[in-house]
Parts: sequence; C-alpha cells; structure tokens
Amino acid sequence: MLNLTDLIARAQPGDAVLVRSDLNAPLGGSPPSVTDETRLVASLPTLRSLVSAGLRVVLCSHLGRPTGPDPALSLAPVAEKLAGLLAARGAAVPVHFTGGMPTGPDRERLLGEVGPGEVGLLENLRFDPREKGNDPTFADELVSGLQHFVNDAFGTCHRAHASVVGVAERLPACGGLLVERELEVLSDLRGRPARPYWVILGGAKVSDKIGVVERLRDLVDGFVVVGGMANTFLAAKRVRVGGSRVEEGAVELARQLLEHSGEARWVLPVDGVVAAGLDEPEGTVVDLETGEVEGMILDIGPRTIDLAARALHGARTIFWNGPPGVFEKAPFAEGTRSFAELLADHPARVVVGGGDTAAAARRFGIAERVSHVCTGGGAALEYLEGKDLPGLVALEASALRQGPR
Ligand code: AMP
Repeated sequence: MLNLTDLIARAQPGDAVLVRSDLNAPLGGSPPSVTDETRLVASLPTLRSLVSAGLRVVLCSHLGRPTGPDPALSLAPVAEKLAGLLAARGAAVPVHFTGGMPTGPDRERLLGEVGPGEVGLLENLRFDPREKGNDPTFADELVSGLQHFVNDAFGTCHRAHASVVGVAERLPACGGLLVERELEVLSDLRGRPARPYWVILGGAKVSDKIGVVERLRDLVDGFVVVGGMANTFLAAKRVRVGGSRVEEGAVELARQLLEHSGEARWVLPVDGVVAAGLDEPEGTVVDLETGEVEGMILDIGPRTIDLAARALHGARTIFWNGPPGVFEKAPFAEGTRSFAELLADHPARVVVGGGDTAAAARRFGIAERVSHVCTGGGAALEYLEGKDLPGLVALEASALRQGPR
C-alpha cells in the first residue's frame, strides 16, 4: 500500500485529491451541531499534510444511514466543525461546502471554489444510493477532474462502497495517515504482540466476535468474555442465566471454543448485576455459582472485575472490544467504568476497539490514557479475524498498478 508521502512526492502543484474520511460524527441540538468530534480530529493529520503540500482537497464521507437526500443528515455542521478544528491547529484554511448532492452540479460548483491548499467537503455520500451499491457511474462522477485518491476512512474499509473501492480503481490511490496508524497497531495484534497477550470481549452480540476468538486463540494467553455475549458462553457451561439473552445458535460453537483453545485461559463472569429490564432504577448483584438469576444480567459484578484484574496482571498487550455492561444506563455502568479504569492504569499496551467500546472509553475519560483507540469497530474486528477488507485490497491493487516507489 502506498502512503501519503508517496502521493505528495508524485503530485504536481495544484493537483486535486479525493480524500475519503470517516466523518460520521453524532449530531445533536437545533440547529444540529457535532456532539462528538473524535472522528473529525482523527482525520485532521491527513488533511493538514495535503493542504500544507498545496494540494486541492476534495473531501467526502457518509453520515448516518440515509437512503436518499435527508437535510437532517447534511454534512454542513461537519464542515463548520472541521474548519474550526483545522484553525485551532494552526491550519486556518477554508472548508468549502455547497450542500445539495455529492455529485452533479453541486460538486462542480464546489470544485470551482477549492483552491490550492484548501478543502471542499462533498455532501453526504449516502444521499445517493449508488454509493452503497458501488455503482460504477457514481465512482466515475466522484473522481471526475481529480488526480489522486486517499482512503483515510479506516472505519469503512470493510465496506465495498463506491467511495471506498470504486474510486480506488479509478485514481492512483494510497492510504491516509489514520489508515496507516490503525494498520500498524492492528497488524501487531494479529501478528506477534508482546506477551502475555489478553483479549477482552464484551458487548451484545457473540456472532460479531466469534471469528476473532477463532483466529486469535492460538496467539493469546487468555480471553476475558463479559457483557451480553458472555451469556452464550455461560449457557455453554450450563451456568443458569435466567432471562438474559442467549444466542442459541452460537452455544455449541462457544462450547467448542471453550474446550479447544489450546493454552488460552478463559475468564467468564462469576457474578452479575441483574434486573427485570433496562429501565429498572437499580440492579441486584447475583453470584452466578450459588444464586438464582431472576431477570437479565445487565452488568458484571465486583467479583468478576477482581477476577479479570488478577488475570490481566502482568499482561503486556491487551485488546478490548465490547463493553461489559449496558453502560449507557447508570445502574448498569459500573462494570464498564471499573474496567475502563483498570485498563487506563494498566502498564500493558492497551488497544480499544472502536464503536461502543470507544464511546465507553470516552464517556469514562480514559481514551487518552490507553495506547490506541481504533476509529472503526467492525473494520478492526474483521481485520483481526484475518478477513480481506475490500478498501485495503483496492489500495494494494492500486499500489501494484502504480509500480515501485
Ligand atoms: P456490540 O455492538 O456487540 O459491541 O454491543 C454493544 C452494546 O452491548 C452496548 O450498547 C451495551 O449496552 C450492550 N451490552 C453490554 N453488556 C450487555 C448485557 N449484559 N446485556 C445486554 N446488552 C449489553
């Protein structure tokens, strides 16, 4: 895969670069504004390098899941926020935005406005359904008049969309600084990380994460399985979990993984915070070995936290994906908060897998205290599973077409 340094070395003055970033930031308020700037901040280094090289930057991203034009999901607040963030970092460049649609006359107008060393943001790519369909006509329209492509949207590299794959087939392409950094961290996690190496998996769904267990089981010293997904593993061990959600279709696979994981140790919850439902004002700590779960397990209990802390003692690499409890609700947030604190204080190299886990890390104020927080949850998991990510495959193919450095 080529990188930004290669692109800048090859570019001619005034060239226009299409940059795919992940600017899918949450919006709130009226008029809407960006409520969490993490993804925007993560995309700044690439933008700054390109503008300081005097290139014309045509930036694009999706926001939310519209199926057609939807003013509530316009990237206008993102353009405003980006301009502020760039200025605050000493790169006070205009961020042009014309709105409308991502291609067609609105794009033409935008291109006319973006000068060397400036940024123009196209409207939400998913306003056009051809984006998700990787439609060649849409990819053609996105690249028209541009000379280079930079994919810096690690969080969407597992999707074969037009702005991820189609455009990389049409322009000389490279990975941005964020994609480079994510790959550096994640390739170590699926390669030869410093051991002891522990993987903590939580969150709601087993099916999303079981591939990671299968791929990493010969590489890790142990797994800590918590959150809703632990119920399926507990069921596989015939621990009674009351009305907690169990993925029946995955129980057998969980049993096999528990039995056939070589040297890897397993830590499963030994107690949980139980309540009749998510809206209950509080839960009760139940010992899973001796007590009866009347309701659902919505968080891990203190004994589980102690057990995990002891297992992780001495670890040199830790990957954490999936919250141990329903941290969005105060009565069930304690397990996730304690885990976050435990990892922030841990001397190991701690990598937090994106999505909800990154949100939890930010909520409990530890995002700056770990080694790395991935910007893409699904993409990170698929990469660790060893899957080929379409966006990365397209970048590799482009590098081959461009020839040696
Ligand atoms: P995932 O996308 O699979 O990582 O799931 C993240 C979600 O899992 C978060 O929104 C949590 O609220 C939820 N979660 C964590 N623990 C539990 C649990 N014990 N029961 C149900 N949901 C949970």
